Amino acid sequence: MLTLERFSFGVGDRFAHQAKAQLQAFQKLAAEGIVVAPVWNKSNREHTFVGSEPQNVLDAAKAAISAKGWEHGWHVDADHIRLETVERFIACSDFFTLDVADSIGQPTPLADVQAFINRHPELIGTLTIAGLSEPFTTTREEVEQVASKYFLAVQEAGNIYRHISARKGEANFIAEVSLDETDAPQTPPELLIILAALADEKVRIQTIAPKFTGRFNKGVDYVGDLSQFEREFNDDLAVIAHAIQQYGLPANLKLSVHSGSDKFSLYPIIHRALARTGAGLHLKTAGTTWLEELVGLSEAGGEGLVLTKEIYAYALAHVDELCAPYASVIDIERSKLPSAETVNTWSGPQLANAIRHIPGHPEFNPHVRQLLHVSFKLAAKAGARYLDLLKSNEEIVAKQVTENIFERHMRPLFIG
Ligand SMILES: [Zn+2]
Repeated sequence: MLTLERFSFGVGDRFAHQAKAQLQAFQKLAAEGIVVAPVWNKSNREHTFVGSEPQNVLDAAKAAISAKGWEHGWHVDADHIRLETVERFIACSDFFTLDVADSIGQPTPLADVQAFINRHPELIGTLTIAGLSEPFTTTREEVEQVASKYFLAVQEAGNIYRHISARKGEANFIAEVSLDETDAPQTPPELLIILAALADEKVRIQTIAPKFTGRFNKGVDYVGDLSQFEREFNDDLAVIAHAIQQYGLPANLKLSVHSGSDKFSLYPIIHRALARTGAGLHLKTAGTTWLEELVGLSEAGGEGLVLTKEIYAYALAHVDELCAPYASVIDIERSKLPSAETVNTWSGPQLANAIRHIPGHPEFNPHVRQLLHVSFKLAAKAGARYLDLLKSNEEIVAKQVTENIFERHMRPLFIG
């Protein structure tokens, strides 16, 4: 079986120019003795917006791997695919994120739910699982409720999984199941029921992305109750270790944290949990590498700064339409967005400071950062003008990309 490494880190490269700079961060970490597998991910939605093809991701990754001489594992993730969208990813991906969130809560035949519960009497009553903050106590009705809420989602995961298996061979790909793009978080007892059902469905998942409690806005820090997150994260780890034993799921099954970039207040919690339990982690970033391109272009000054200001001005004038598709994953206070006239008076370093995610920095503006994050279509629209600027400012942009991943993400997560 193609096995996902204990630690893996998903990076997005919207315009396919930063794979080398991203890989540089993994090499710096490897030099510290910690090997993390890079996973280049790009969703169908992103490909559609940018006008790229999954094959481009594989090509860019391969070129970076050979240019930098990376000798460890790496993968290409068909991110958030469904049965209708998986086709063009099959040949050029070895990691598939099966997105079944749309099937959550769809009505399930009662007979299927009853059969599930009859197969799993161990899920009812008081469950004492090593590592849990306190034992779970569940009634038959509660298990029934959760099973019926997730049953179709699990079946859908099975459908996609079998489709990919038939095309690639079951041993040749890594499966992740994602439940994060939905309204309500999954509690640890729900996760256990979902894992039991996935095992019944013979989905050999190696990583699962639940929706965690709290807000995971794109490009900015976590908003929520840190102690609750810590308790639930630790309970999820205990549930996974238990489910591996109880249901024969792959021994390397681990949690995946989606929209995991920039969640600086969670990293010490996650680091502690991994060190304590020896668990693995997949952390998927939210395509924020492109913001580092804007930071670099701002720093570079000249045409790079001019274009970044133009993108901001256009984004500000179209804030409603740009934010609408992302309403549930951003929190922008309009009154905190400076006018285009104001931003036009800023120096390059000043604009870079507003975008770069250093929470305590007096010039950092999370509203500007979030608005720009959802405006990547504008850079796509600028086309060759944008890409040529990335090429002519390669060094300064690459420095931002590497530093962001290594210093602000990998160091607190993996080194501590
Ligand atoms: Zn996701």
